[in-house]
Parts: sequence; structure tokens; C-alpha cells
Amino acid sequence: MTDNTARPNADGAGRIEKISGPLVVASGIGGARMYDVVRVGKSRLIGEIVELRRDRASIQVYEETSGLGPGEPVVTTGQPLSVELGPGLMSSIYDGIQRPLSVIQEMAGDYVTRGIELPGLDHSRKWAFQPSKAAGDKVRAGDIIGTVQETPIVVHKIMVPPDFPEGFIKEIKPVEATVDETVATIDCGGQVRNVTMLQRWPVRRGRPVKEKMAPVETMVTGQRIIDTFFPIAKGGTACIPGPFGSGKTVVQHQLAKWADAEIIAFIGCGERGNEMTDVLLEFPELKDPRTGRPLMERTVLVANTSNMPVAAREASIYTGITIAEYYRDMGYTVALMADSTSRWAEALREISGRLEEMPGEEGYPAYLGSRTAEFYERAGRVKCAGSDDREGALSVVGAVSPPGGDLSEPVTQATLRIVKVFWGLDDRLAARKHFPAINWLISYSLYAERVTDFLRQAIAPEFPDMREQAMALLQQEAELQEIVRLVGLDALSERQRMVLETSKSLREDFLYQSAFHEVDTYCSLKKQYRIMKLILMLHELASDVLSKGAPIDKILAMPVRDRISRARLVPEQELSQFDGIEEQIRAEMPRP
Ligand code: ADP
Repeated sequence: MTDNTARPNADGAGRIEKISGPLVVASGIGGARMYDVVRVGKSRLIGEIVELRRDRASIQVYEETSGLGPGEPVVTTGQPLSVELGPGLMSSIYDGIQRPLSVIQEMAGDYVTRGIELPGLDHSRKWAFQPSKAAGDKVRAGDIIGTVQETPIVVHKIMVPPDFPEGFIKEIKPVEATVDETVATIDCGGQVRNVTMLQRWPVRRGRPVKEKMAPVETMVTGQRIIDTFFPIAKGGTACIPGPFGSGKTVVQHQLAKWADAEIIAFIGCGERGNEMTDVLLEFPELKDPRTGRPLMERTVLVANTSNMPVAAREASIYTGITIAEYYRDMGYTVALMADSTSRWAEALREISGRLEEMPGEEGYPAYLGSRTAEFYERAGRVKCAGSDDREGALSVVGAVSPPGGDLSEPVTQATLRIVKVFWGLDDRLAARKHFPAINWLISYSLYAERVTDFLRQAIAPEFPDMREQAMALLQQEAELQEIVRLVGLDALSERQRMVLETSKSLREDFLYQSAFHEVDTYCSLKKQYRIMKLILMLHELASDVLSKGAPIDKILAMPVRDRISRARLVPEQELSQFDGIEEQIRAEMPRP
């Protein structure tokens, strides 16, 4: 670097020295700080300072840098990369830096034109603000002072922004207002401050909460293999690797539709164009099964289209999780899905490579692990900021796409070190049409223990133990199948054969679940328990009579087995049918 670049330029703007793909190096930017957003070049591309050495800044640019030349100006906005939070987020589809895709499209056609600066929220739309506090009330940061019906199914809570000191409400009334207009004034020890329905928040910083709490409840998804075997807790984290065609998309849609969460945030960092187009086309079509309304009315979508450069992918997961945290602040349960975090990590790798940092494993930067951890640590069940005792939860499900399905690669490994649940999709199961193709032998959930009290109380005292029993049977099945392969079925005792039969029933009548069957698509915990009980009850009684000499063929011929295989199709309102099936098992069980 020569001396003349170190001198601040007369206009306060820096000058581009070097352009390397999405990375631009500039010097002499007046007032530059780490992580500030800067405008790069004559076309004012949006970028973020990711490295600062003396007066030389490395900038990751969120837009295509072709055509940019050395010597062009760079100015700082003085602000970190932030999002706008307020009514209007629900139903929105954003790019990685919260520009509404629909608005960009109207302005510029299908291709995102560079340098477009667009607010995340519509600043001209009026919202009907309903106060829930009155003049004279004492409030502090995080307190809910009113509400807005954001969509037909989401009530948006207007909160005192995080940077407000404690004070008293001076003025508040029902009003039709834009996000910029004042809806209340607060007297903070003599200084009167205006509250609007808009908050800005830097995406790389987690929003403040009063307290983080251990997750204790299952986030019910209605998917049997998940809820019974590998549950994710409300506020928990999970990882789902998705080899192509293994049913990753279907699982994610099922979670978005059925997960016991009020708000859904979906981040798509697809790299191939059509991957993201699928999401953009499919999501708006999904119906919220509980309300019959479009699912988008309680969803925010962050999508990186293929023509957005790699750095925007890097930002998108922060944009998404900040919006998700904001709804958790309101006291909602939020589920966030990121697909796929591998693309995010690749973006990190590319930027790191261009910064000429010391590469770690497979070229990923050494901080891949800590960045991954920072992201997932923003999940959690919390006591929200504010003086009431409301709780919120944010659960995060990250999809990874390990190349060639190799789970030992760095991104999968970094993720597995942090998340507590692993749903191992298996393309061999998918090929056999066993769906969801989650392999029960390699998957795990570290919440299984933690939610036992919840399950005992909410469903049945023995439910958690039944899970253990079923898992043990499935593991025995794998071992017995090995024996059968080597020496044939004849080598097995009748009780061992019964283990194989019961495991088959567990796989086909319980683990298998059709996402497309009207009834089977969702299964309540109660029903999961009842089906499992039938299968294990038959196994237990059968094992008993077998040990007393009853022939296995008679057990296998019991007509009730057919009813068990159709139990998953019993509608939720008719669970009393299960009583009859249990009686039938007892009645048909052969006597020794
Ligand atoms: P991926 O996203 O991993 O490429 P998809 O989610 O699109 O795979 O699934 C591929 C196909 O597998 C689907 O089109 C569907 O036919 C089938 N499938 C996946 N999951 C299920 C399920 N739970 N129930 C029934 N069919 C499924």
C-alpha cells in the first residue's frame, strides 16, 4: 500500500483498490468501522466491511461486482447491516438483505438490478394500532403497548424498543398509522420519546431476552418418527442432511405446516436457480391446515435467487433469524428452517479464501465452527424482555447438503457439534419408498430425555418407556437381519422371529407416514401413543405365549394384525376405535 491511499480523500469517500469476485478492497473510507454497511462504486452497490486493517477495508459486496473499477468511490453508511422490524413482515418474501423480492421485481423485472435500496417494510401502508396500555402506565423495554392485526391469523405485538429506559406512557390511543408515525409517547425521566411500530436491529447481534431457559416440551410436528423417536423441543435445534430425492423438501413442508409453532421463518440459500424457484413457487401455495388460510400469512421467506452473489447468502441466515427472534420477543413460538446451511458455509469459505485467511479443513475458515454455533445459539426458549412473564421459543432446523452424502465433511460435523437433534435422511430408505426416509439407526435426539416429564404428563406415564422398548426392538432387528443374511431364517428362534415381525410392524405401521394422505399426514401425540401401544401389546402377549409353546404361525395369522396396520389411518376424532383393537388382540391371542 502506498502512502497516498492512507490519506483521507477530500470527499470523505474511499477508493476501490482491488476487486476479487464478491470482495472489494478499498482504502481511505472516512469513519469506516468493522461490519458497517458501505455503498460501493458509482452504482452504489451494497456491501459490508468484513476486515479492517488500518484504513484499508475488505468489503463483501451483496451484489454482482462486474463492471466495478479501481478508483471508484466507497462511502460508509455508518450503520451495521440491519433489518426493519414491524408489521408487514408476515407474508413477505425477501432477499438476503431484506429487500422485498416482489417490489424489486416490479422495479427491475426478473433480475435484481444493482444498487437498489429498498426498505424491508412498506412505509406508506397504514396499520390499525390498538393500545393495550394506557397513559400513566409504567413501561420498560420489551413491554407490549399495543397490537396490530398483521394478517388474518397473526396479531403483531408492538413493543417498547430495546434501547428505551424505563418510563411512563404519556400519550397513547387507537390510531391508523404507518410504521414511521408515532403511536405512543413515553416520558423517560423527563425526556419524552416517541414510539413507532418500526424497530431497526443489526442482524449479526441476537435480540435481548430476560432469560434463557432449558427447553422442556416437545415441539409437536405430527410426524411419528420425529415426535416419538427423535423429538425436537420447543426452542431446540435440529439438523437434517438432505441427499437429493431423499424427501428433504417434503419433511420441511410438513414441519412448516404442522409444527406446533405460531410463526414460520424459512430461509432458502439455494445455489442452483431452480432450487429457490421451487420454494418461491411452492410456499405461497401451501395452506395452513389449522386455519385453512394461506400458510404465508404466518410465514416470512428469505430467499437467495440464483442471480444474487455468494455474499448475500452469507447474510441471509442472519436476516432470517433476526426476524424470527423479533416474533419470539412477542411471546410466540417460532420455527425457523434454513435450507441449506451448506450453501451459507460455502459463501463463508469463498469470502475467507478471497481474504486470504488461513484455510482450515477442506478450505473452510477456522471459524466455521464458531460461526455455526453463534447461529444456532440464537435458538432457545426464553423469558422475553419486558415486565410481564411471557415466554417465547425459537426452534431452528438447519438442512445441510453434504456432498455425496458424506456426513464426515466439515459443515455437517460443525453442525452436529452444536445441534441436539439429528434426522438422518437415507436415500436407500427413500428408494424403498419408506417415508419419511429418516434412518432410525443413525438418528438421535438429545431432547428425548428432557421431554420425558412432559410426555408422561401430557400423554401417558409409560409413553417414554415404550419409545425405549421400540428402539431396542428396531436395533435387535438390525442384528437379527445380519444373522439371517449369513445363515438364514431357520437359525432364529420363534421369539427372535417375533422380534422381526414386530419390528416390521413398527416400520410399516408406525414409522412409515404418508405426507399426502389426508389423515396420515398429521398424527397427534395421543394417537402416536395409541398405535405404539397396539404394536407393543401384541408383541408382549405374543412373546409370552410363544415362550409357553404356542406356535408363531397362529400369531401371524391373527386378523387383528390387519387392523393394526390400518390404525394410522384412523381419524383423530375416532381414537376410541383403538379400545376395540386392544380387546381384539387379547381375544385372538392363541392359548399355549
Ligand atoms: P428432496 O427435496 O430431498 O430432493 P423431496 O422432498 O422432493 O426430495 O421428495 C422426493 C419424493 O419422495 C416426493 O416427490 C414424494 O413423492 C416422495 N416423498 C418424500 N417424503 C414423503 C412422505 N413423507 N410421504 C410420501 N411421499 C414422500
